[in-house]
Amino acid sequence: MTNINNDVIKVLTRAVKDGVSFLIYLFVMMRRRKGTVTLVYHSIGRVDTSKDIYRLNITPERFEEHLKIISRMKEGVRITFDDGYGNNFENAFPLMIKYGCKAAIFIITDFIDGRIGSDRLCGEGLGLRPLTWEEIKTMDKSGIAFGSHTKTHPVLSGLSREALIVELSGSKDRIESSLGHTIDSLAYPFGSRTSFNTGVETSAAEAGYKRAYTNIMGINGEGVDNDFRLRRVRVYGEDGPFKLKMKLKGAYDWVDAFL
Ligand SMILES: [Zn+2]
Repeated sequence: MTNINNDVIKVLTRAVKDGVSFLIYLFVMMRRRKGTVTLVYHSIGRVDTSKDIYRLNITPERFEEHLKIISRMKEGVRITFDDGYGNNFENAFPLMIKYGCKAAIFIITDFIDGRIGSDRLCGEGLGLRPLTWEEIKTMDKSGIAFGSHTKTHPVLSGLSREALIVELSGSKDRIESSLGHTIDSLAYPFGSRTSFNTGVETSAAEAGYKRAYTNIMGINGEGVDNDFRLRRVRVYGEDGPFKLKMKLKGAYDWVDAFL
């Protein structure tokens, strides 16, 4: 019974969020936004949706609908992917070439190296494979940027300074030695306000990163924001073209305002 009630509450909460966001969209749809919207995707493939508890997978067809919208916008949108799923190469990469879209992929080096499985990242039973280093090198040469999403995907705010060095410098060194050039971007695992703090930001800067992305909804202005708290706009499996347009206009930025 409690589970059913929880599900009903979840569905209702989402419906209220969609309704409020639609009203905001009506007010902001004609406004031109200044700055860059950074979208965050995860898996692009076909999965058992009943096991996709975080709604992180988007079908290739839906992703193509998104790219049609994004490729028509001249500037101000960036595509990012977190974790480093193999389907980013199989499904997303060919579509990004087709539509002339660039992206940045933030990889978990222990996931790529086969030391942790996808169950720990995106829910049990999805069985998503990681990118291989060969696929990463191929995309790197084709203009896809790579960044770190740490070594093991922990909550960074709970780590000691020594453990932070392992996660931040260890993953950076691993990617740089494989690609043969420096990387300077980081995406915090989980990315919520409680998943990082000023100590994490300082450690990231000391490790040589120039910027770090959160998963807090919002747009990044030019030269006014803290480069170690860059916002992103989360995209979910159920987000069709209209919802993406609403998100690009900032209609959903409010959802994290009270967290
Ligand atoms: Zn992640």
